[in-house]
Amino acid sequence: MKQFDAIVVGGGIVGAACAEALAHVGGTVRLLERGHIAGGATAAGMGHVLVLDDSDAQLALTRIGRSLWTERWSHLPPAVERDACGTIWVAADEAELEAASRRATAYAAHGIEAELLDAEALYGHEPRLRRGLAGGLRIPGDRVLYPPTATRHLLDRAVAAGAVILERTPVQRAGNGHVDLADGNRFEADLVVIAAGLATPMLVDVPGLVIRPKKGHLSITARCPGLLRHQLIELGYLTSAHGDEAASVAFNLQPRATGQILIGSSRQLDDNEPHVDQGIVARMLARATEYLPALGNVPIVRTWTGFRPATPDHLPVIGPVPGAPRLWLAAGHEGFGIATALGTARLLVDQWLDRQPTIDPRPFRVERLSATHRATACVPRGAPECAAVPDQDSPPSPFAA
Ligand SMILES: Cc1cc2nc3c(=O)[nH]c(=O)nc-3n(C[C@H](O)[C@H](O)[C@H](O)COP(=O)(O)OP(=O)(O)OC[C@H]3O[C@@H](n4cnc5c(N)ncnc54)[C@H](O)[C@@H]3O)c2cc1C
Repeated sequence: MKQFDAIVVGGGIVGAACAEALAHVGGTVRLLERGHIAGGATAAGMGHVLVLDDSDAQLALTRIGRSLWTERWSHLPPAVERDACGTIWVAADEAELEAASRRATAYAAHGIEAELLDAEALYGHEPRLRRGLAGGLRIPGDRVLYPPTATRHLLDRAVAAGAVILERTPVQRAGNGHVDLADGNRFEADLVVIAAGLATPMLVDVPGLVIRPKKGHLSITARCPGLLRHQLIELGYLTSAHGDEAASVAFNLQPRATGQILIGSSRQLDDNEPHVDQGIVARMLARATEYLPALGNVPIVRTWTGFRPATPDHLPVIGPVPGAPRLWLAAGHEGFGIATALGTARLLVDQWLDRQPTIDPRPFRVERLSATHRATACVPRGAPECAAVPDQDSPPSPFAA
């Protein structure tokens, strides 16, 4: 017996996870996507499923997100290209190694396995890294997947539980228990979940709701199996991410199941142009070959950009819109929405069903974003309107991909 009707707007990984979770607890679910499934930020993402500790709330959400992916890991179909490769945060010098040591202690306090590596141990794990590095922090429980097929898998499961997926179905506006489609039709439901990424503020009337584009570039190499074993990220990214630079790049490499290497990453706040910036790519590749010189001999076969949906405090909004108990948001996951999609869906369903939430929902509530943000900035080209942005930006998250 179906117990409630739900509409999910947005067919990225967050909407797919919500649709799957709602369908499995007895919802009659319809998912509405304006384009095609996983065509937004999800298509651009790196697929690193990791634990991050920029704030207690981020740690809680990434930890539950990673653990929910881990629970189902062995059941994911081959197309999801799952790889439990772990992460090594690479420390270039003694100061970074000390930072790694502090993180290891913090992770241990939360029961997250983390192994501090001296230089010898680092080269034991990753012999191709350049000489002279100080060590690193290995997080064996982190993993990698391919976001578009992971999204498709979640939707397949939703459909198997009775959900209906409607692509090329743009929503114009959403309210308490209803959505108005661009073609003039209105759908009603007990629960409406807006998981439309960057477009979310344009669909709902929530003063102060701000989601800004944080552009990122990624490149992928030809096949070169065996060059590295873990996802590798420089710990020094902390410094560059907190700097004043309009654009920052960091060493961030991912081994793909195909034998290719995914090279990241860059960050440009409020750059809404999807074109590839060759200057940024050159900086990103130079940083990558500085750490892994052998990469210089491997051809790059494709480079692309995407837009991380970023809120001012770097946490997603997950929960009901104040004053509209049948209108919920699940958006603004910046650089960790792949890692936290399942955690987001769990948190949403826990609250919808009035169950004891698995993690504290308060840091993610919609009402934390005050109505004091009034300026206007454009969202990526192709989006129909502009979104509100805050008067001031807070420092970016240092660890997100
Ligand atoms: C370069 C880069 C690297 C990244 N790396 C990682 C990583 O390694 N790990 C990680 O966890 N995260 C990573 N991310 C972040 C991650 O990709 C995002 O957080 C995540 O994909 C957000 O998913 P979403 O479903 O909220 O948004 P989206 O994927 O953008 O989905 C929103 C969907 O809503 C649809 N939509 C919008 N408006 C409407 C409307 N009016 N009607 C109907 N549908 C609508 C859109 O078409 C879109 O399909 C990365 C992002 C980038 C750009």
